[in-house]
Amino acid sequence: MAFENLTERLSKAMKNLTGRGRVSEEDLHATMREIRLALLEADVNYGTVKRFVANVRGKASGADILEGLDAPQQVVKIVNEELTKMMGDEAVPLNKSPQIPTIIMMAGLQGAGKTTTVAKLAYKLKQENKARPLLIAADIYRPAAIDQLEILGKDLDIPVFSLGTDTDPRDIVRAGLEEAKQHRNDYVFIDTAGRLQIDEVLMQELKDIAEIAHPDEILLTVDAMTGQNATETAKGFSESLDLTGVVLTKLDGDTRGGAALSIRDVTGKPIKFVGQGEKPTDLDVFYPDRMASRILGMGDMLTLIEKAQKDFDEAAAEKQLEKLRENTFDFNDFVAQLKQVQNMGPMEDILKMIPGMANNPALANLNVDEKQFIHLEAIVQSMTPAEREDPDLINPSRRRRLAAGSGRPIVEVNRMIKQFDQMRKMMGQATNGNFGGMEKMMGA
Ligand code: GDP
Repeated sequence: MAFENLTERLSKAMKNLTGRGRVSEEDLHATMREIRLALLEADVNYGTVKRFVANVRGKASGADILEGLDAPQQVVKIVNEELTKMMGDEAVPLNKSPQIPTIIMMAGLQGAGKTTTVAKLAYKLKQENKARPLLIAADIYRPAAIDQLEILGKDLDIPVFSLGTDTDPRDIVRAGLEEAKQHRNDYVFIDTAGRLQIDEVLMQELKDIAEIAHPDEILLTVDAMTGQNATETAKGFSESLDLTGVVLTKLDGDTRGGAALSIRDVTGKPIKFVGQGEKPTDLDVFYPDRMASRILGMGDMLTLIEKAQKDFDEAAAEKQLEKLRENTFDFNDFVAQLKQVQNMGPMEDILKMIPGMANNPALANLNVDEKQFIHLEAIVQSMTPAEREDPDLINPSRRRRLAAGSGRPIVEVNRMIKQFDQMRKMMGQATNGNFGGMEKMMGA
């Protein structure tokens, strides 16, 4: 999980501070030293760290804050605010052209996730805004890039314009824009070539394409896993191109977080989206305030709620509730429910978004084994349709058969059936408004 060490160190520094009744200049100094080291170790740009520390010190030191009764909380608040500011304060939306199409040009080094991001972003617009995007395949140097874009487009039902690898990218872009005009596409994405490193020829090509297309948005894709290099790359591109924003990819990986914290400060360009996985839906708007809370280990309830809303299939949930009421909730529903939870992403990541949980010692060694879901599913799949609907049928010899069929030990089969039974009983009572002894306990 990204930011793990940074979060641990920062929240420890904060805890030391809030554990005190008051904060002296020395305490503040010691805390800022700890924060400074933590940020540097997380690969945050040196100048950014220096500015950040100076800003927090400037706001926190002096009598006004330090002599107040809630000095520790005030300092934490200032750290949070400055961290947010460092990442740009507010989320910055995509630019939109007053007339169609809005043209979005993508740039980035090879392997940063440019092609994947084109597909993710076009898909997001299609799903959320009912957009009709066209993707232009202008990366002719990596032949697989065109195939990759075409495959993604086909999967997501988004048209891709390509002239193969033998036409100059500038001509591909001209022809692609013409095609978009004819089909009245409202968004056009231009997937450009990447290189292993920034070079003159690449930059010239990108500048030419920008001149031809007059994009409303030039988004740079950078790989968060590359740490300081990501920030340097962003700086390099922003010196030659009129970037309007950055997409930071692979934030689901084990990145130390430096790029997320430095890019805005170093380049002046906002991070607009973050990639958090390989699936087309793994792209999220970047909210500096939520990211700051997450980095400080204060949780990110807003994202958690949005995630639950987005990934939660309301119709399915309603159906399951109905079945619980009628006492017909069966193993098929059980598997469907597990799948809903799984859709939200790795369990550890979800739990860590709950305030106070990121550094909860109980979570430190918790490794929610995603395989357990698979095992449970395997047991259910080994059941006959009749068994799935009526758990009471599952006698000891059937249990042995299920264990053999799913390759799981018999104790696991027994445990699952017991849990399922308990859950069904408990939920059945609750949804029927019968809370057992509860009313009696409350004197009703
Ligand atoms: P390009 O050369 O910049 O076009 O890079 P690609 O789009 O081909 O991406 C390179 C690799 O990174 C592919 O394997 C992608 O699946 C992967 N990738 C892209 N974005 C993300 C992300 O946000 N998270 C993860 N885990 N992988 C990503």
